[in-house]
Amino acid sequence: MNHTLYTFIAEDAITDTKLFTLKCNCGGTITIMSPFQEKQIICPQCESIIKLLVVSGDPGYIIGAEENGKPKLLPVQGSKACPIELLTEQEKSDILNKVKRKIKEPK
Ligand SMILES: [Zn+2]
Repeated sequence: MNHTLYTFIAEDAITDTKLFTLKCNCGGTITIMSPFQEKQIICPQCESIIKLLVVSGDPGYIIGAEENGKPKLLPVQGSKACPIELLTEQEKSDILNKVKRKIKEPK
């Protein structure tokens, strides 16, 4: 069965490199090459379609939402930030709170 996945890539991680190794949710890896014009690739292992979304700089994490609408941290591949699976629940909620506060602050 083919799935469509979305993955975020830190722009900083691909600006100074010729090769970037992307990880699929299934654990498979795909190497993409400069100038990184692909908008989507197919995982050779699980055949998922992976849509690539390059985010400027290195934001660390992207805030997404779970099915119930609860905010959730999403990883940014190539980011220098600590991988989400290594964060404690407390650290995760701290990051989410920080982002929420940023959103609320008037400009
Ligand atoms: Zn895969």
